[in-house]
Amino acid sequence: MIRAVLLDLSGVLYIGGKLIPGAVEAIERLYQTNIPLRFITNTTRRSHMMVYKDLQKIGFHIELDSIYTPVRAVINYLKDHKLHPHLLVHPNIQGEFDDLMTQSPDAVVLGDAAEYFNYTVLNDAFRLLMKGAPLIAMGNNRYFREPTGLSLDLGPFVTALEYATQTNAIIIGKPSADFFSQVYCDFGVEKEYIIMFGDDYASDTLGALATGLQGGLVKTGKYQKGDENKLAGSGAIIVNNISEAADWCLSHYQPELY
Ligand SMILES: [Mg+2]
Repeated sequence: MIRAVLLDLSGVLYIGGKLIPGAVEAIERLYQTNIPLRFITNTTRRSHMMVYKDLQKIGFHIELDSIYTPVRAVINYLKDHKLHPHLLVHPNIQGEFDDLMTQSPDAVVLGDAAEYFNYTVLNDAFRLLMKGAPLIAMGNNRYFREPTGLSLDLGPFVTALEYATQTNAIIIGKPSADFFSQVYCDFGVEKEYIIMFGDDYASDTLGALATGLQGGLVKTGKYQKGDENKLAGSGAIIVNNISEAADWCLSHYQPELY
């Protein structure tokens, strides 16, 4: 039984800018039943507003506030800990940190900078970390799927800096329990009645299960044959795609009775 649904975006609803067949209809069907639905992504190459507009452009009618990206969570973390970031992030999201920038940064914030990763920027971050700054990463995913094939995600760069500095990063995106909790606290639904469907068996499915949510895997996006074997015995729900995920949600949905 479920009372709310969390969905990953990339690899579940679209790949690159390309719609996964049946995704728009699946989301419409979920909305028609009024099942509480939120979207939770580790995408940090695009700003919150860009993600929202990208979704509109390919046909989704999703509210801006129902989308959660790690950027806001990182900003909250920096404010709570009175930290000022040295950014190693994609230019698309740099502006969101404007209020927190100073001449003397004391934390390294790492996002998926894509083609903006290079020796110089990684080495600048490394030097600040060696002075004791914490490493705050907006995810730890190994790879994701683009229309041209699988692509390196943020995780390998997090690991490179962790290895060099012999420290552990603070991971703010999925699979962080804190990140999931920001979303389900908004629902007002007990976490055991929430299912999270994603295409990343580690960050999405196992991350959700470790947080106490139900976990689901779709076999689209970055899914690789055999990923489901890594979920054996976990109780994860495995479906072929978002259409089947919607079917599963609708047949297990029980609204709370007041
Ligand atoms: Mg994904």
